[in-house]
Amino acid sequence: MSVTLHGIGVSPGVVVGRAHRHQLASIAVTAENADPAVSWERLQRAFLIADEQLTALQAETTERAGGDSAAIFEAHRAFLHDPELVEQMRRLVTVETLGAENAVVRATGQFEAMLQATGNPYLQERALDLRDLRQRLLRILQPDAVPALTLDVPVILLADDLMPSDTVQLDPKHILGICLAGGGPTSHTAILARSLGIPAVVGAGVGVLDIACDEIVLLDGTNGLIVVSPGASSIAIVEEQRAEHETQSPYVLQDSAAPAITRDGKRIEIGANAGRLEDVSEALAYGAEGIGLLRTEFLYMQRSHLPNEEEQARVYAEIARQMAPRPVIIRALDIGGDKPVPYLPMPREDNPFLGERAIRLLLAHPDVFEAQLRAVLRAASEQPTIRLMLPMVSDVREIHQTRALLDRLRADERMEQVELSLGMMVETPAAALTIDLYAPWLDFFSIGSNDLTQYTLAVDRGNARISSLYNVLHPAVLRLMKLVTDAAHDAGKWVGLCGEFAGEASAVALLLGLGMDELSMSPRRIPAVKSAVRAAAYSDAQMLAADALRQPDAP
Ligand code: PEP
Ligand code: MG
Repeated sequence: MSVTLHGIGVSPGVVVGRAHRHQLASIAVTAENADPAVSWERLQRAFLIADEQLTALQAETTERAGGDSAAIFEAHRAFLHDPELVEQMRRLVTVETLGAENAVVRATGQFEAMLQATGNPYLQERALDLRDLRQRLLRILQPDAVPALTLDVPVILLADDLMPSDTVQLDPKHILGICLAGGGPTSHTAILARSLGIPAVVGAGVGVLDIACDEIVLLDGTNGLIVVSPGASSIAIVEEQRAEHETQSPYVLQDSAAPAITRDGKRIEIGANAGRLEDVSEALAYGAEGIGLLRTEFLYMQRSHLPNEEEQARVYAEIARQMAPRPVIIRALDIGGDKPVPYLPMPREDNPFLGERAIRLLLAHPDVFEAQLRAVLRAASEQPTIRLMLPMVSDVREIHQTRALLDRLRADERMEQVELSLGMMVETPAAALTIDLYAPWLDFFSIGSNDLTQYTLAVDRGNARISSLYNVLHPAVLRLMKLVTDAAHDAGKWVGLCGEFAGEASAVALLLGLGMDELSMSPRRIPAVKSAVRAAAYSDAQMLAADALRQPDAP
């Protein structure tokens, strides 16, 4: 169940990621008497080093986040050179014989109490600067005792409060967002987070500190919210917003040719769905790494007669030639259902989606199927990147029959040497539930989420009256997808997804987490999907998917 905490949004942006709780380590400060001369010398040395560090931080911050942000460290230096504060520390070590650490804690604590007592919010927030300086001096005095905040994986950082000097050293690549139990909107941590472009929420209350490390959280720095264990739908909204934002960016298209690799190094192949030769240039322009679904029925539907084998072979080979060396998956003719063709007499059916459609129709019309298979074999003999995929399979015998047909055609046409990977679409629950039975005979699987949703939920994908029931996020559909990826991977086979769901940037993390190896979509969706992959972490995606699979109902 998700829990929402409310705070103050101080740096805009919405992110989802793994929580990391940062605790300010406290230094053990002993109260025993120390040699006054030694303590004073240690203190003076610490002042010098702190001054050097702050000067360096100021320069670095000016470069990274601008002069306004760097002014914070000027404020710290001002405290460091404050005659009253320094005199108080000197007195504590020389007169009261406190150790250097103890003097730092006592003196800064007294000053902090004075600032808090003013009741002035601005001065109260400056107390944080003082605490930052205290932490710095203590780190210098006991370098081994306080680990600096170093992070090298992307997280949403949760803390009671964060020192500005910690914040400025955060790398936005590793920090997705910051949420503080305390803090105020004009605190330097908030200012710094804004300058560094890290979404942040402050003043979210101590509940923040109860969030377990590694929990998935959604942080909304615009509205001041932090949601623990957000549902798949909230995450989808976030991803969609980001994807929309990124699609508008001129950099997105530029980046689109590069592979889609998550922040933690998991690559997923991104293909294009195509129906015509003319689609290839668009697929390439948008960064397709292959054609994940060539809907050959378009070649059959836009005409008054069956395309001959020659014509088909030419088109398939040309598409593969233009895409080479990228793979091209040719889907065997998927007609019937909602896609009749005028020149193939099809008897009227009461339930055409449950009738003689796709592989059923092909096996019932061997002349049509054989012509297509011969064309594919001929094209593949020229272009070895061609693969073949069968639609709407619901019985493993359909695979055996197709393989037998292919073997016969290879022998008849003297094309035994032609390599042709064979895969199938997973569009029926029957197939999804028994992938292990298919895997020995096939090289790959591609989930047709459009039909898998329709057949699993018994909801006609074209019937507007029940469209509210058509939901690819239904746990039944998601669980079937997971069954497919698990069983296929157990058998050493890869799984893609080529339904419309693949092109929803908001679904990318979920699909990654469900174990997809490839996504194929309409070309224009590719840039946003690739950038969503790059923004995701595979490890988080797996947790998200596990969570989605446990949901009692569809969002
Ligand atoms: C699908 O069912 O998801 C699919 C890609 O096939 P089509 O939409 O062509 O039926
Ligand atoms: Mg389909």
